[in-house]
Amino acid sequence: MAYSNKVRESYLETLNGLKNAGIFKMERFIHSAQAADIIVEFPTGASLKKVINICANNYLGLSSHPDVIKAAHEGLDTRGYGMSSVRFICGTQDIHKQLEKLVTEFLGTEDTILFPSCMDANAGVFEAVLTKDDVMISDRLVHASLVDGIRLCSAMHDTFKHSDMAHLESKLQLFQDKRIKMVITDGVFSMDGDTAKLDEMVTLCEKYDAMILVDESHSSGFIGKTGRGTHEKCGVMGKIDVITTTFGKALGGASGGCVSGRKELVEMCRQKARPYLFSNTIAPVVVAGVLKVLEILSATTERRDKLETNTAFWRKGLIDAGIIIKEGDTPIVPVMLFNAKLSQDFSRDLYDEGIYAIGFFFPVVPQGQARIRTQISAGHEIHHLEKALDAFKKVGKKYNILGKTKQEIIDMYGM
Ligand SMILES: *Cc1c(COP(=O)(O)O)cnc(C)c1O
Repeated sequence: MAYSNKVRESYLETLNGLKNAGIFKMERFIHSAQAADIIVEFPTGASLKKVINICANNYLGLSSHPDVIKAAHEGLDTRGYGMSSVRFICGTQDIHKQLEKLVTEFLGTEDTILFPSCMDANAGVFEAVLTKDDVMISDRLVHASLVDGIRLCSAMHDTFKHSDMAHLESKLQLFQDKRIKMVITDGVFSMDGDTAKLDEMVTLCEKYDAMILVDESHSSGFIGKTGRGTHEKCGVMGKIDVITTTFGKALGGASGGCVSGRKELVEMCRQKARPYLFSNTIAPVVVAGVLKVLEILSATTERRDKLETNTAFWRKGLIDAGIIIKEGDTPIVPVMLFNAKLSQDFSRDLYDEGIYAIGFFFPVVPQGQARIRTQISAGHEIHHLEKALDAFKKVGKKYNILGKTKQEIIDMYGM
């Protein structure tokens, strides 16, 4: 037998190591659609429980929007269930081209190419447009999918300290002689909820003749006055050479992603990006749903405005309660607890109070920076947020962290 006991035991040893270290990931099962109110089952066998979800990427509350569901049904009826093909063989429908056009208009770019996911977009884009004569310079906190895409590319790679513009400039100087220099960043960083300094980055890129790529997965649809993204917020629309983003978060939350930007660069991806050439096309039902999402968002800013109001309410409520959060203005609001075990205990107690939010700790976040990452949605009503605040206060009181400083919390619980 090829799957020998030796192999089995080595896997079991690794898995048990994860369990003993307390970093084995247990998935909870949701028995309802994704929304503010969900029905959750813990795999440990406890009964189903109705809880308020404050940890989804469903920023605009569109994951179960009736108009999106209806449009998806129509897509299913008129374009079928699957295409059984990659784009360049027979996987391109009229609606795929429509979606590429609509995304281009929405983001204010020149052209767009769809990918099965943003993970795939990031895995494919660098190798398709850069060579060994080029250099990629990335922020040290970029998303794992960008890290993987960078690994797959033959261009040289270096990093700059998170959002440190002086350090970025020194790297641009260092690599001045490279054929193409590409600066790489997330628009909004998913763990801290902070925003890249795109205006300063664009200025530096212009000065040193570099391109810039921004992953807008945690921005597209709701950051900026009309929800176009970080480039809108920072006043640099039209100046970002490459945007990658996902349809799996605010934009309906189903799946799919894209590379959007300079026309020739997008064409290079169409000819050469391997996840585009060798993975199935986005299902018609999903394309139809995203088309509706973009139609809704282009017609009105109502949902992103509501998200902004909800976010301000949530941030103020936590601060007033004496809870430490990461500063910022995005709907990603990390509640800082510093200690890994405390983050897990806190999360479990919140769940008992009917609030679903997950604690993160090393290696997902740096050592000593354990937290509960809360994410606000336009699908939340104020009563959801009030109930969640009450729960944070109650559990916060139990663990005696209200009004305490970082050092006081660390003194009590350790790092
Ligand atoms: C979620 C995320 C992705 C992956 O998006 P998928 O479409 O789910 O593959 C890529 N980049 C960033 C920054 C993300 O947050």
